Order: sequence, then C-alpha cells, then structure tokens
Amino acid sequence: MDKTPLLGLSLVELQDITDELAMPKFTAKQIMQWIYQKNVVEINEMTNISKSHRELLSEKYCVGRSMPIEIQTSQDGTEKYLFRTSDGCYIETVYIPDHERATLCVSSQVGCKMNCEFCQTGKQGFNGNLAVADILNQIYTVNTIAVEKNNTALTNIVYMGQGEPLDNYNNVKKSIDILTANYGWAWSPKRITLSTVGLKKTLKNFLQETECHLAISLHFPLHEQRLQYMPAERQFPITEIISLLNQYDWSHQRRLSFEYTMFDGVNDSTLFAKELIKLLGNIPCRVNLIPFHQIEGTDLKPSSMTRITTFRDYLTKRGIYTTVRTSRGQDIQAACGLLSTKKQLENHE
Ligand code: SF4
Repeated sequence: MDKTPLLGLSLVELQDITDELAMPKFTAKQIMQWIYQKNVVEINEMTNISKSHRELLSEKYCVGRSMPIEIQTSQDGTEKYLFRTSDGCYIETVYIPDHERATLCVSSQVGCKMNCEFCQTGKQGFNGNLAVADILNQIYTVNTIAVEKNNTALTNIVYMGQGEPLDNYNNVKKSIDILTANYGWAWSPKRITLSTVGLKKTLKNFLQETECHLAISLHFPLHEQRLQYMPAERQFPITEIISLLNQYDWSHQRRLSFEYTMFDGVNDSTLFAKELIKLLGNIPCRVNLIPFHQIEGTDLKPSSMTRITTFRDYLTKRGIYTTVRTSRGQDIQAACGLLSTKKQLENHE
C-alpha cells in the first residue's frame, strides 16, 4: 500500500490523523513543526514523538520528501532538478540564483493540457496534476540542497515551470498557504508569483484568496492570432481576462505583469506594440518581453535583440514599464518554454 504524504497537510488535517490514531492532541502540532520548520524527511526523525507513535504513524504515512534523481548545472549557475513524483512520473524544477536572490521555478503538473505552440511542455501532452506534496517537495528539497552547498537560499517562488498552475488550483493554493502560513515559511505572498494563460474561474479564486503576484501569459494581443498559437484563447479570450483583471485593485503592491514572448515577424512589430497598448488600456501593469528559445515542431523563430529592444522602447515611451527577461540556463534546456520530461516518461513505460 502506498503511504499518504504528510507534507501539504494543514494543522486541522494533521489533527484528524492524530485523533484517528488516538494520539495526544499536541502531537499534530509537533508533526507540523518537524515537517514545515525542521525540514525532516523521515517520520523517525521526529524525536519528541514517542517511538511507538512514530511507528504507528509510519504504518500508513510518510513525510512525502524525495531527493532529485538528477541535477544539471548551467554555465550561468542555474540548476535544473529532475524529480520523480509520488505517481512515478517526472518533473523539472529550475533554481535561478542572482546575487542575493534565488528564485525557484516550480512545476504544478506533469506536462500540460494547454498545448501552447511555442512551449516544449505543451508538446509533451498532459500526464496528471501534481499532489501538494510533490509541489512542496520541489521547494523544500531544492532549498535544503542550496543551503547545504552554501548557495543562496530561496527568496522567491514562481509557479512558471511545467503545467498550468490554475488548472491544478486546489493543490497549488494549498502549497501557497503553507509557504505563507506562520506554521510554514511565513513568507510574504509578495515573494510568490503565479503565471497563467488565464483560466477564468480559478483566476477569480486566486485573485480573491491570495495576495500573490500575477503574471498573465499574453504573447499575442489579437484574438485570432492568440487562438492560432494558444488554444486556451478559445475558452478564455484575453479580452475577457483583461476585463476581469480591471475589476481588481492593483494599487497595493500586488504586481500584475504580462508575459510577451517575441517571435520573429509574427508579433514583434510596432503594429503589435500598438495593439498591446490598446488591449492593456489603463490597467496598472508591467510587460515582460521574453526572448523565444527555438524548439522542435514549430515554425516560430526568435526575434532579434534589436527588434526586442525597439519593442521595449516603444512601450516604455508610452508609459508602460517594460523589461526584457534574461535567458537563464539555456545550455541545460532550463530556460522558459524548454522544460520537458517526455523522454523520461517514455523510458519509464
Ligand atoms: S506555456 Fe505554460 S500553459 Fe502553455 S503549454 Fe507551456 S506550460 Fe502549458
């Protein structure tokens, strides 16, 4: 029988377990501290819980932590981690150090249903949602490894790895709850950013139930073209997403950004910059231009850096704060849009 992971459970859920096992009430709090603050990987390490209770707990439960099965390091210091999930699938996680900051790009699904034309994960297809334990394991384990190697501990989390996080909203939300809870990492939600193509229903929940930053994968300001490259546009047109976003107050340090990958001759001319300005209207936001990384199976090509900076300058002059994302970890296939565990899944079958 597979054991149930404790990682990802709230205090109330842990209390249900300790009640079921007839353990004292305070044991749930002790378990919580061992998992979320003292970072244990085995139930046996919970030394202030009696041996008999640890054994009883271990019969049906485990902590839910696992080590990566591979780590690749880029010339620029970026690290790509390959994890095996509790379901026996594979996911990738990217650690991006930058002086005193270190950002972790976390996966939320195995593959992705959204099938964006320019994304390697989309081309992998969908192989399932990640459990909360599998999401948190990426964060807890990479942070532990970074600290052990004397690298920068995590300062920021971005839900921008494999998968559409709002398509696995409940588990993603639970992982955010634990990172921001006092019993967890007590992080400010401003250290967390979620990136989405814009799944309207769960986007509303995310906006109401969290205070994390939001990045919308926009890429194409015109409906027909966005539909051509991003099938999600059919169900969730970008104009509807912008109307929804306009109903929220963005003045309280909650950051809204739009991601715009630049494709040569497709969306990188001034005409598209004008359409983008029209679409965004007066919504307080920033635009993040992303150099495209060539992948197989698409005719899309990267825009030149000159085109990208011209586009950036056009938006900046018209009052839109625009940045160009630095490509990190390209040599180990860790940069935006390049994550794929298709090969590992095939080898496994
Ligand atoms: S860009 Fe994001 S939403 Fe689109 S296929 Fe890739 S992982 Fe999925």
